[in-house]
This record gives sequence, C-alpha cells and structure tokens, in this order.
Amino acid sequence: MKTSGTEFQSKLPDIGTSIFAIMTKMANDYKAINLSQGFPDFDPPEELKKLVNHFIESGHNQYAPMQGVKILRERISDKIRKLYGSYYNPNHEITITAGATEALYTAITTVVKPGDEVIIFEPAYDLYTPTVVASGGTPVYIPLKEPGFTIDWEMVNNSLTNRTKLIIINSPHNPTGSVLNRTDIIKLEELTADKDIFILSDEVYEHILFDNNRHESISKSIKLAKKAFIISSFGKTYHATGWKVGYCAAPAYLTKEFRKIHQFVVFAVNTPVQYAYAEYILNYEHYMELNKFYQRKRDFFISMIKTSRFNLSPANGTYFQLLDYSGISALNDIKFSEYLTKEVGVAVIPLSPFYSGINDRKLIRICFAKKDEVLAAAAEKLCKI
Ligand code: PMP
Ligand code: GLN
Repeated sequence: MKTSGTEFQSKLPDIGTSIFAIMTKMANDYKAINLSQGFPDFDPPEELKKLVNHFIESGHNQYAPMQGVKILRERISDKIRKLYGSYYNPNHEITITAGATEALYTAITTVVKPGDEVIIFEPAYDLYTPTVVASGGTPVYIPLKEPGFTIDWEMVNNSLTNRTKLIIINSPHNPTGSVLNRTDIIKLEELTADKDIFILSDEVYEHILFDNNRHESISKSIKLAKKAFIISSFGKTYHATGWKVGYCAAPAYLTKEFRKIHQFVVFAVNTPVQYAYAEYILNYEHYMELNKFYQRKRDFFISMIKTSRFNLSPANGTYFQLLDYSGISALNDIKFSEYLTKEVGVAVIPLSPFYSGINDRKLIRICFAKKDEVLAAAAEKLCKI
C-alpha cells in the first residue's frame, strides 16, 4: 500500500458519505423542511432532561464502567423480562453502547472473519454492509419481497452455505416500516436449527408499531436467543437520538467477546445519561404509549397528503413512511429527492442507497417524527406537485 493519498487503497472503496448526512446538509443548505434523516424535531421529556442535569450536577461525570452502569443494566434486564419473558443476566449479558450504531458495529466485528458470508436483506440500513466488508466478510443480499417488503424464507434457505456466519434482521424495519411476525421467527428458527449461524437483531424501533402489529423480539425465542445479539437504542424510544446510548443483550459467551471489542471502540459510554435512563426506564407508560403517539403522527401525515399524487401503503412500524412517486415523475429517486429538497422545499431520503445494486423503484422515505405543524407544512408542499 502506498502512503501517498492518491494511491491509498481504501478498505471501503464503494462507500461514500451516508445518505442521511448528505440529505440533512442539503436540507439545511436549501432551508427545506427536513423529513430526511430519522430524528424527532421535538425534545426528550422534561423529566428525563432534569434527570440528566441532576446526575451532572451531583458529580456523575467521570468514566462509567466499561460494560455500562450497573443499575441501568439491571433495569434493562428487568424490562426485557417483563416485556418478552426472557432473562438476561445484567452482569454478563447486557452491555451499554454508544447508540445502536456502536452495538451493531461491535457485534458484526465480534463474529465476522474473512471469508464469512453474512445474509443482509435489502433495502438495508446503511451500516450493515460496510461493517461486514471492513471485517473481511462477504454480504449475501436477499431482496425483501414486495408488496409489503417481507422475507422470502425459501430464498434465505437457498442462500445458506457452510460459510454463512450471520443473518442480520431488523424489525420494525428501516426504511420500509415492515414488521416480522411470529411465522417469520419460526422460519428463522427452523432454517438455523443445528447450524453455526449467529443472528443480529436490530430492534431499535421495538416500541414503534402500529395497528395490530406486535414486536416479535428475538429474545422471546429460546432457540434463537442462544445465538443472537439483540440491539436496541434509547435514542428512538426517548426522543434523544443525539445522546447516543443503546445496548446489546446477548448470551454470556457472546457478550464476553463483544466487550473485548467494545472496550477498545469507546471503552465506556456517557455516564450521567446512563444514570438518568436507569431512573426514567421505570416509567413504563412512556414506552408503552409510544405506539399510539407515533401512530397518530403517521395517520396525521397520511391524511394530510391524501390529495397528493403520491401513493403509499401505511408503515406497520418505525417513524418512516415510504412514498411512491411513479405517478408524478420519471426522475430516479436521487434526482427526485434533490428536486424535492431544492425546489419543493421538503428534504426526503431516496430508497436506492439502501440497496447494493442499481435500483430505480421510484420510492422515497420520509420521517414523520416531526411536530404536527411541520408535517402539515411539508404535506401542503407535497400536495402541490
Ligand atoms: N439501526 C437502525 C435500523 C436505525 O434506524 C438506527 C438509527 N436511525 C440505528 C440502528 C442507529 O441507532 P443509534 O442512533 O442509537 O446509533
Ligand atoms: N438511522 C437514521 C435514519 O435512518 C439516521 C442515523 C444516522 O444519520 N446515522 O435516518
């Protein structure tokens, strides 16, 4: 490898800047309403902010333990047991991470070695592929089946080889809003039975499901939990994406290896916020009401764009909604998203960056975790085109 910049051999030659960063910058540059990157435009609850201040003022400002503050790990363990009926030992099976991002990176790095294959469903959240590739693994892509963006288990079965090391699932799913059901979990159990395949379950939207959908945490499956990393994020649940605190629940033998990497990525995570979450997580109502809170926003936005020329099928979960613009424009989704941002004044996310290959599905993603007046103003603009 040459040390001169021009001949530097990238480990990730095909990876550019994340589409979320690009579109938020474009939204700011063009003063567009930002429905692109997924984050709420409202604050975390007052009580939670007060708790963080309290723990800063009362001197909880130095390094937390590498694996996370004990009381927070204990309360996460209690919460998982209450919601999903499974027990994770807080000392050996739960680790607090710098958001789900670090947890996903660390989990993938923990298991993937050069030559390993990793099943990734497309469209896929942007982090999975580069992390697999940086670990020397080979992504094996399986398209989600339309309509509904569901998993074709027959195709999964046909894609398994003796090099398959990991299957990454994400439910509720970013960017499509689809949700795995009980039948999917049983299929996954069957296909991985007696195989040395690990599961990485990205469950950051575990509290944002609509209509009659229920979250099927992989922790509920005794068979899968034995070989799974369950990842979640407080950022989504408490409207605090900027605080970057999440966690990984995994059996002790996996957690032991996970922590070997975690300690050299971040060592430990933001102390006062961990103490604040340890208190606030006791407030059961907050996360139990989140479904209703976001369902109202989803329905509000959908009702506001009813007269537009976009087509949609309501998301089953997450705070994202896909919009089909095939009846409006022949532009590809990147160009159409640029047009919406620069000329219509609404920034959105194109779907193609969530795919490895060329894709022209005429779909864009909007984030409805926004104040009603912002959603209404964006919808008004979208109805005019
Ligand atoms: N996974 C998915 C599916 C996400 O949508 C996000 C963030 N939007 C993350 C992981 C990362 O979460 P965090 O912000 O806690 O790092
Ligand atoms: N996950 C968020 C989204 O889907 C963005 C997080 C990020 O910018 N990395 O928009």
